[in-house]
Amino acid sequence: PATESKRLRIAMQKSGRLSVDSQALFTSCGLKINLREQRLIAHVENMDIDILRVRDDDIPGLVMDGVCDLGIVGENVLEEESLQRKLDNDSFDYTVLKRLDFGGCRLSIAVPQEENYSGAASLEGKTIATTYPRLLARYLKQQGVNARIVNLKGSVEVAPRAGLADAICDLVSTGATLEANGLKEVDVIYRSKAVLIQRKGLTDERQLKLINKLMPRINGVMQANE
Ligand code: ATP
Ligand code: ZN
Repeated sequence: PATESKRLRIAMQKSGRLSVDSQALFTSCGLKINLREQRLIAHVENMDIDILRVRDDDIPGLVMDGVCDLGIVGENVLEEESLQRKLDNDSFDYTVLKRLDFGGCRLSIAVPQEENYSGAASLEGKTIATTYPRLLARYLKQQGVNARIVNLKGSVEVAPRAGLADAICDLVSTGATLEANGLKEVDVIYRSKAVLIQRKGLTDERQLKLINKLMPRINGVMQANE
């Protein structure tokens, strides 16, 4: 029925590098979530909010298609999806409500340790494996470099050893994984953090009020963590 209030839907990563921090942020903001329930949808007990727990890759699309109202996702995944949707002429609108203080990482070019590297020009004519083909293509275009991009969903760091690529473009936080695979980080092409995003065209007054109530809490939690 039209009179029934719509619950605010927030998408977060189900399990992975963003889940613990996302859940902690919600909890710090006073949301009472049943953490033991490993279900897709978790109802917040004390507010009109439902938490949807999904793959991080699905979060930008859920918000851009208006299926979820808010989402927490890495800028790397968000930007990659936006670039892809622009190419496909799909909707790619959203608003960033807040850049968060977790999920920090960089998208970097890495090459075998014994390789000489003197800037992006060294990639000319090479094959580069990545999970982020659009971000990499944008970088290569900016640098005026022609290279072949191999799109891998996983195990990117083993691609050079497996003879699938000359270089990789992958997420790095400490560099330990690269080193373990005989690779060295040579260029950073994108710096990312987790962001809280909102769908375009959210007009329900109760939902907007709820967001206006949450934002100062998020700011407060982040200030307290500084
Ligand atoms: P899912 O199963 O949800 O698809 P995933 O394996 O794709 O998970 P994770 O490895 O959990 O993703 O990473 C989620 C996000 O965490 C990344 O997209 C990135 O924004 C951030 N992140 C922070 N540090 C790192 C890192 N060292 N490596 C990879 N991602 C990182
Ligand atoms: Zn993912």
